[in-house]
Amino acid sequence: MAMKQNFSLKEFNTFGIRAVAKHFVEIHADDDLFPIVESGMLRENSFLILGGGSNILLPEFYDGVVLRNCIQGIDVIQDDDDAMVFLVGAGENWNDFVDYSVDLGLHGIEALALIPGTVGACPVQNIGAYGLEAASSIVEVNCVDLDTGHRLVFANAQCAFSYRDSMFKDGFNGNLFITSVKFKLRKYVDAFFVSEEVRKELRLDIDMIAPRHVRDAVIQIRQRKLPDPRLVGNAGSIFKNPFVSTANCARLKTKHPQMPSYRMPDELFKVPAGWLIEQAGWKGWISENRHFGVYQQHALIIVNYGDSTAAELTALIKAIRHSVLVKFGVQLEEEVVLL
Ligand SMILES: Cc1cc2nc3c(=O)[nH]c(=O)nc-3n(C[C@H](O)[C@H](O)[C@H](O)COP(=O)(O)OP(=O)(O)OC[C@H]3O[C@@H](n4cnc5c(N)ncnc54)[C@H](O)[C@@H]3O)c2cc1C
Repeated sequence: MAMKQNFSLKEFNTFGIRAVAKHFVEIHADDDLFPIVESGMLRENSFLILGGGSNILLPEFYDGVVLRNCIQGIDVIQDDDDAMVFLVGAGENWNDFVDYSVDLGLHGIEALALIPGTVGACPVQNIGAYGLEAASSIVEVNCVDLDTGHRLVFANAQCAFSYRDSMFKDGFNGNLFITSVKFKLRKYVDAFFVSEEVRKELRLDIDMIAPRHVRDAVIQIRQRKLPDPRLVGNAGSIFKNPFVSTANCARLKTKHPQMPSYRMPDELFKVPAGWLIEQAGWKGWISENRHFGVYQQHALIIVNYGDSTAAELTALIKAIRHSVLVKFGVQLEEEVVLL
């Protein structure tokens, strides 16, 4: 475990933008964290826990310590008639774990295929897609508190999981380094949830559908709709889908009858942020220097076509947020972490 100075993070963020960390260290085991905590350098400097860099906009220079999570390992810790329980190192690649579980025929995370990033980041924003969230399969989350050096375990109910959110986003002042996650995945399910979009792609009767069918259909849909970060720099959806009150939804529908909306609990309606951004005229927008823009096929995705900077992308995010507020009176909230 060697601390590096003025280290380039260009390869470690899916936007592919230039970014340099003043100090950088890779964490391969929980035990790597304790000497760093004891050294006091995390008290003297700001610090950032980095996974795959697929949900973050890094600044050009990070004046602090970047701790890159590389903790590997998948252990089966229980294997019953109806379920298997796994303890997964937080630095494992998320999609590899999905593939591994699907190859075992397990239900629970198959619709979350092809989401980039690490297992350790999945509880942070409670990743979700096609009607499924990671929270429904997480049993507990193991962490090290970087302030005290204590190991902490949070059961699912303590994690405050909700739509693209959890207590890990800002709980303990961002001091929690997730080291491993325990998942329970089922061999059989009573009611197998398959979203309408996935079912249309599959064209199979529900009782014929296995986890691998869902995973494969999700991959097909995602490859059609989303830019591959290896080819075009991006960090997936920039904003969360906003939730509006019943009254606000009715007001918006009067002015914009085509606006899609989905009923949620607590008399709220979810409105697709991509639709709002598209209506505000941003879809396919490209900057004058042609370095960055809004993805042609999906208005919720900002892309780095060339050598764009964090400052340029931040300005674009602010401009989009402002124009949606002016046109619809709806405040968008970033899904991507901005530093
Ligand atoms: C093409 C594309 C498609 C995407 N599709 C989806 C989607 O469908 N659904 C979805 O929910 N997300 C999606 N995302 C967003 C992203 O993939 C997820 O949020 C993913 O979980 C981020 O993982 P990461 O390892 O890259 O995290 P990073 O980007 O490295 O970090 C994200 C945040 O989590 C924190 N963090 C990371 N690891 C740890 C840890 N071990 N302990 C504590 N904090 C940590 C970081 O400090 C940061 O605040 C997509 C992104 C891309 C590029």
